[in-house]
Amino acid sequence: MSESTFVGMQVGGISFIDEGIEETLDIFVELAGVNAIFISALSWARGNAGRSGSGDYPDHGGQEPDNLQGGAFFPPNPQYYHGTSIKDFTAPDPLYEGWDILGDVIPAARARGMEVFPYYCETAHINPKPLWQPGFAQVLEIDPWGRKASRPCLYNPDYRNWWFGVIDNWLNEYDLNGMLWGIEREDPLSSMIVSDEVPTCFCVHCRSEAHRRNIDAGRAAEGYRKISDYLKSVRAGYQPRDGKLITFLRHLFEYPEVSQWQKLWWDGHKDLYREISGLVRYFGDDYQVGFGIWQMINTFNPLLRAAHDPAEYKLYADWLKPVFYNAPGGARFAKFVTNLCQTILGDASPAEWTPILYKILGLDEAPFEDLPPAGFSPQYVADFTRRYVEACGPQVAVYPGIGLGVETVARDISPADCEAMVEASFEGGAEGVMISRNYSELTLPNLAAVGTALRRLGKI
Ligand SMILES: [Zn+2]
Repeated sequence: MSESTFVGMQVGGISFIDEGIEETLDIFVELAGVNAIFISALSWARGNAGRSGSGDYPDHGGQEPDNLQGGAFFPPNPQYYHGTSIKDFTAPDPLYEGWDILGDVIPAARARGMEVFPYYCETAHINPKPLWQPGFAQVLEIDPWGRKASRPCLYNPDYRNWWFGVIDNWLNEYDLNGMLWGIEREDPLSSMIVSDEVPTCFCVHCRSEAHRRNIDAGRAAEGYRKISDYLKSVRAGYQPRDGKLITFLRHLFEYPEVSQWQKLWWDGHKDLYREISGLVRYFGDDYQVGFGIWQMINTFNPLLRAAHDPAEYKLYADWLKPVFYNAPGGARFAKFVTNLCQTILGDASPAEWTPILYKILGLDEAPFEDLPPAGFSPQYVADFTRRYVEACGPQVAVYPGIGLGVETVARDISPADCEAMVEASFEGGAEGVMISRNYSELTLPNLAAVGTALRRLGKI
């Protein structure tokens, strides 16, 4: 990293196609002093690539849906994919035809002194399908009933090797500074508790890992099935004699293999993070590896927070982009608490649980009923940035993901909000900021507000 304050910008290829490479980069520099761009070079997610998915277009770029299918926005070179069955994943979208979004943009970014990173974020949404193309059906997770599920298994060697091929392809073929990578997934228990999804994974690779660890896969699968049945009955109105949380814990303690499986699942994720980190650094000491950390993991969900000690990132990250989107945070947290109260926290109401969860999570935000329009405060950004800086600094730099243009039905995001996000980030000890979610969603006055705050702080 250069000595100047890091000002990163996440951008999908569509912005360069719609608005021009030179023109778009000039706007980044002039309005906000951006000196590092993160190109969504591989994505199936409309939140990370493509035009705004909300139908509410900002004051630049295309003004109609692009109906993104997604995939690689660079031409995958087959010589890097011998170790995997997933070889053909070029985005089929006609808009991208003839474009190599890395090769076409990098020279213009370099000419402006920018650092360039590809970024990948597997988002939490499963519809539209994040992974649609031929080959991915082979690497899907399996649920405890034996059915294929919706996301790739991180113990599947085909999937892992595909990722190593992508990184090999990127870093050998393009003039890059490293990469940003991240997965937004709930663990198997949270999938059931929060999102009413199936727990995973019980594929042959996960069972093999369980065998190696002397974990009884049959008992674990039975435990997840029992807990799933129980949570579904609670959602349907069942009132257990001893309360909803206590009865849940009784199921959990009856099947200690479930807790073992939770760790197995998390270890699969962390192993891949570590391997990716080592692979990026294999290409040279100058390469940087950063990880995006989902707001559910860094703030909302106590189960995910327990499984992710931020200090662990000292082992394998050069920097982190924790997502601290405060403006939509209110609506998102309200939805999260409401979901919990439909299952394990159903013994009290969301309004009753909210102040207690604030205590547990270290938050001090608006009452439940005011949350969607209020959002989370800028103080949240400062406090949680500091939490990460204290956990993993100074070895690992923290660049908070600030949400300038994240779709939210409950609250507009103003330039004043954006200035406050930037100031809060540095108040919390950040060494830079990552302008998020991506350029195609944010307005130019909001981007200019970031520049205003950075100049006022003497950062650019
Ligand atoms: Zn598996």
